Amino acid sequence: MINGIAASRGIGIGSICVIKEHELKYEAVKVEDVESEKKRFDDAIEQFKAETMEMAEDIRKRIGPKEAEILEGHLVMITDPSMSGEMGKMIAAGQCAESAVEAVCDMFIGMFSKMDDEMMRQRASDISDVKVSLLKILLGIEDVDISKVAPGTILVARDLTPSMTSQIVKENVAGIITEVGGKTSHSAILARALEIPAVLSVPDITSTVKDKDTAIVDGTEGVVYINPEGDVLSQYIIKREEYIKKQAELQGFMGKETVTADGKSVELFCNIGTPKDAKKAMECDGEGIGLFRSEFLFMDTNHLPTEDEQFAAYKEAAEIMQGRAVIIRTLDVGGDKDIPYLNIKKEENPFLGYRAVRYCLGNKDSYMVQLRAIVRASAFGKVKIMIPLVTCVEEIRAVKEMVAEIKKDFDEKNIAYDKDIEVGCMIETPAASLIADIMAKEADFFSIGTNDLTQYTMSVDRGNADVAYLYSTFQPSVLRSIKHIIECGTAAGIPVGMCGEAAADPLMIPLLISFGLTEFSVNPVLVLTARCIISKWSKADADALAAKVLSLDTEAEIVALLKESAKE
Ligand code: PEP
Ligand code: MG
Repeated sequence: MINGIAASRGIGIGSICVIKEHELKYEAVKVEDVESEKKRFDDAIEQFKAETMEMAEDIRKRIGPKEAEILEGHLVMITDPSMSGEMGKMIAAGQCAESAVEAVCDMFIGMFSKMDDEMMRQRASDISDVKVSLLKILLGIEDVDISKVAPGTILVARDLTPSMTSQIVKENVAGIITEVGGKTSHSAILARALEIPAVLSVPDITSTVKDKDTAIVDGTEGVVYINPEGDVLSQYIIKREEYIKKQAELQGFMGKETVTADGKSVELFCNIGTPKDAKKAMECDGEGIGLFRSEFLFMDTNHLPTEDEQFAAYKEAAEIMQGRAVIIRTLDVGGDKDIPYLNIKKEENPFLGYRAVRYCLGNKDSYMVQLRAIVRASAFGKVKIMIPLVTCVEEIRAVKEMVAEIKKDFDEKNIAYDKDIEVGCMIETPAASLIADIMAKEADFFSIGTNDLTQYTMSVDRGNADVAYLYSTFQPSVLRSIKHIIECGTAAGIPVGMCGEAAADPLMIPLLISFGLTEFSVNPVLVLTARCIISKWSKADADALAAKVLSLDTEAEIVALLKESAKE
């Protein structure tokens, strides 16, 4: 078994075809006839553009416009004067076309690959793709025709470039293994769009396998088997069948209401970080946004986003969701979330320090900017405000006062907004949980943040591997806290949701149904899985299980019972 990065879910079993990299060798001679060298270069650029355009068009038809944009980006790059113009100048000075292409591309690759930002680093691999394609044209090298591989092929390559991916015929490629690339690399994006199982970053795979070797690609777990033993192969054949069956079953939940086995409706929302993710939420059939982590807007720039910039982002999400709820959590900075330009001073205990609503209420001017932007966006959909990390009721009151001030100002200036905009809070600290009954009198809704609630209840840093064995939502203390919060919210007549990871945990879902949770907010890709599991539990079954769970003393016993009772 070889480990890699799980980049595209599913199981592929088939016969390997290794995409070899050609040696792009040439002699860097000084050219005499600059004019004809320039023509050779211009012809190569024209050929590159024509081929890339054709591939982009093909991808647009077969995969989608978003994926075609990756190749269109290559066209934009090569036509940029800083690239082809620079290359032209080097040729005019007597360099051969190959070395001009290589020198200019390498300069950009060097520059982008050093950047911290993953998107910028991705640029480096795009330019490398452009460089290789151009050199191949100049050197007259023809590649393996990926579009002609036999059905059941596992493609193995150092990197799967967008230009290679564009040739893939989905029905023929059972899996993809590469030596480089992460979850957000273009090869990963394209593999997911094509729904081909893929495992990336498998070291030296191109040199350790040969054509026709048998391979299993488990893109869900991120593991690869080469020439597996008979029993591994037969287990995986069964696993693949189950996976395919499960996917078909899940697709049946598309467009359906989220209801328990006894017909009670609940809301199934999504967690997002950017307005673009709202599109993903819609594509995945999310019924609203239960958590818009607004800090991503602040992290993606080097300045505090202005009211207009924030308004544009919140409005975009609201419009994409077409009247469905969009719960925007105000800036949750500090703890593990650093925003350098805010210059928050280093603390001994950042998780217990000046973070989230504490920081915001201490910096009211900039908090006002964010709240104004959210209230303005409420004119364009069902926008709600959510306060993170509250520990006492004064914090909710302070935010509500600020919102009231904004409403008054907007009324005077005739600025449109939703007069019924709700202000709710996350319940993610033991303090908030213990006074959930008091909080419920002040908040319009609750959303349980189990990621932090577990951390603070168990006193374990959620990122510390040494204490990770204690970090479990199934600890009796955490379960009691969750139950208590839901009961307090329900008794006060306010909706209680959950936006921590536990909301999508198949083992947790029956307990949440029993406790009376009315809104589950999950990663968009987990919407159908969550809807499917919710559909399998009636309140009576969930109550019976919850009663047993709550009578147990340890996390291990609870998890064992939940696993035994799981309805797959
Ligand atoms: C949580 O704490 O459960 C939560 C949803 O917020 P975050 O993970 O952003 O802290
Ligand atoms: Mg949190």
